Amino acid sequence: MTESAGPAEPATAGTGAGAGGVLSGRRGSAEVVTNWARTVRYSARAFHRPRTPQELSALVAGSARVRVLGSGHSFNRIAEPGPDGVLLSTAGLPPVTEVDTAARTVRVSGGVRYAELARAVHARGLALPNMASLPHISVAGSVATGTHGSGVANGPLASVVREVELVVADGSAVTIGRDDPRFDGAVTSLGALGVVTALTLALEPAYGVEQRVYTELPLEGLDFETVAAAGYSVSLFTDWRAPGFRQVWVKRRTDRPAVDFPWAAPAAAALHPVPGMPAANCTAQLGVPGPWHERLPHFRAEFTPSSGEEIQSEYLLPRSAALDALHAVDGIRDTVAAVLQVCEVRTVAADPQWLGPSHGRDSVALHFTWVRDEAAVLPVVRRLEEALDPFDPRPHWGKVYAAPPAVVRGRYPRLPDFRALVRSLDPGGTFTNAFVRDLLDG
Ligand SMILES: Cc1cc2nc3c(=O)[nH]c(=O)nc-3n(C[C@H](O)[C@H](O)[C@H](O)COP(=O)(O)OP(=O)(O)OC[C@H]3O[C@@H](n4cnc5c(N)ncnc54)[C@H](O)[C@@H]3O)c2cc1C
Repeated sequence: MTESAGPAEPATAGTGAGAGGVLSGRRGSAEVVTNWARTVRYSARAFHRPRTPQELSALVAGSARVRVLGSGHSFNRIAEPGPDGVLLSTAGLPPVTEVDTAARTVRVSGGVRYAELARAVHARGLALPNMASLPHISVAGSVATGTHGSGVANGPLASVVREVELVVADGSAVTIGRDDPRFDGAVTSLGALGVVTALTLALEPAYGVEQRVYTELPLEGLDFETVAAAGYSVSLFTDWRAPGFRQVWVKRRTDRPAVDFPWAAPAAAALHPVPGMPAANCTAQLGVPGPWHERLPHFRAEFTPSSGEEIQSEYLLPRSAALDALHAVDGIRDTVAAVLQVCEVRTVAADPQWLGPSHGRDSVALHFTWVRDEAAVLPVVRRLEEALDPFDPRPHWGKVYAAPPAVVRGRYPRLPDFRALVRSLDPGGTFTNAFVRDLLDG
């Protein structure tokens, strides 16, 4: 693989906090670009990092196959162009975060990470309604895969997008706003429409959040709906070594009435959700109030999120099935626990994006942080998918799953509309890779 612009950044897997966005390094004389977890080594003909919009347009127009890499936090080959394609990072383009305080919006370039975006927005007295568990991820890459946080009334991160700016296959710019009939296919787009150069997001006035962790919540007798609604954002964590939850993270907005949490005991000290990892990597707990962007993510921007040595999977299913699905996982608890670091259970409100994993249904999200051993993990992923199959699970687009494309396709009623959108915006398939081709055409 060759690189066109500037020296490759040293691999930073483990911190994920580098300023550039793309993780790359050299092994011998060959350029190596990997995902954050170093579980995927992307196959590509060349790696480019344009520095100007003109350079970006010329590069796209002159390439037969292109995929964009955001901050590389996905765990599968969704970003991979293949051996004949160009892997492109937008992290070298001038970063933009234009806050419009009157309209309560921000126009942000696609490669900017949430940590940087949140600081800029907060400085102007405004806020995003929600964040993922980590602020290290790029905005365009996150909304492209349907990334979400938690909260029964909170949609995925894509739900605040109001406009998408793309560079399409001929190098020209296309803007798709909310009034455009294509909009619901254009945000959670798997990178298949073009290079997302900027997004406009809706904001709200800044608010405070306090976070408390509760320990040992039994599965037996769990009233999932009530527990999930006991805070603005609620996450349940378990290692499935016992039928219940080791930790429950409850994030409350300080501008809303407090809700009691009588089902488990408050932790006496700060905790990390992954057993054995330091609590110092996590955002402040113990009810200490702070700004929204320093409480909604679990992990602090300047530290390694999660464990750093991992593979992840996640499935979104109808929230009404949450309890039955949790009991189904409990039924194969020993199998799951054998390769699991931690499982997180969250909620995501229904979203109109055609390929949004919570499309059309209020959802529960069952997330699994596995050990970093693909051979040991994949059979368990298959077994887990069998157990969850009755609940119509939609896998997270950026994580590891085993379900064949035809099965996944059947879980998205608007997939034919998305296919038509891809064909109209990118008739030559410049932005289609094996992952997208299998899904759309398989
Ligand atoms: C430690 C950790 C914690 C995580 N926590 C969460 C969580 O709380 N919730 C959750 O839902 N997910 C979570 N994820 C998954 C993560 O949010 C997704 O994988 C997300 O896609 C990461 O964004 P990225 O920029 O790294 O995307 P990448 O992996 O770089 O790319 C993902 C997709 O987006 C496309 N893309 C990226 N940038 C552009 C662009 N500018 N234009 C067009 N297409 C583009 C790529 O082509 C690819 O198809 C976590 C991952 C890690 C490693």
